Amino acid sequence: SRFVDLGLSPALLRAAEELGFEQPTPIQAAAIAPILAGRDLLGSAATGSGKTAAYVFPVLQRLDAGVRPALRRAQVLVLVPTRELAVQVGETVIQVGRFLREPVKVSVLVGGVSINPQMMALRGGADIVVATPGRLLDVVAKNALKLGDVECLVLDEADRLLDAGFADELAQVLALLPRRRQNLLFSATFPAAVQALTTQLLHDPVRVEV
Ligand code: AMP
Repeated sequence: SRFVDLGLSPALLRAAEELGFEQPTPIQAAAIAPILAGRDLLGSAATGSGKTAAYVFPVLQRLDAGVRPALRRAQVLVLVPTRELAVQVGETVIQVGRFLREPVKVSVLVGGVSINPQMMALRGGADIVVATPGRLLDVVAKNALKLGDVECLVLDEADRLLDAGFADELAQVLALLPRRRQNLLFSATFPAAVQALTTQLLHDPVRVEV
């Protein structure tokens, strides 16, 4: 299959080209169209499958197509288990979003480093927040961020999120989100805890296995 057949806009097709992505990986070929259509999605995919771009492309396109694309109100929240993955996702968002109508602002919030620069960077808001759950809650507790406008939640590496002991924090974050939203969950493995989360979170999801 080809990127041009997946419903992506010229800005996103151009980003794929600039990134040197000649054709979609299997998870991208299966996930991009349903995410663009606003469906919830359960992705069974490991690192290296191209799963990051599988959600970043369509999520950015939906953001860009919004009535007011640059709301800077954390319309998209991506939760990840590690700082490294957060930084990687943040970089992918910047690369993929380069040709959008409005520049997309991304904030990366991770523990293990000083909170102040992250809070400073949030002044003026952000369209997309990529975070580990504990640091996200710290930032919210300091009133530097509100989660009431999240339209799309992504749980990336959900199995590792739960392994990392983030179950309680995750539950606290979920309680802060609007009920009506799109949910995307990616995981390499599906132990009972991830299955339970899937049932709780996803509404009539498209299932994609690669
Ligand atoms: P991920 O599985 O999201 O960690 O991505 C693994 C690597 O594959 C990253 O370095 C991406 O830049 C790269 N990648 C993702 N999609 C494609 C594609 N369609 N064509 C070539 N490389 C890709």
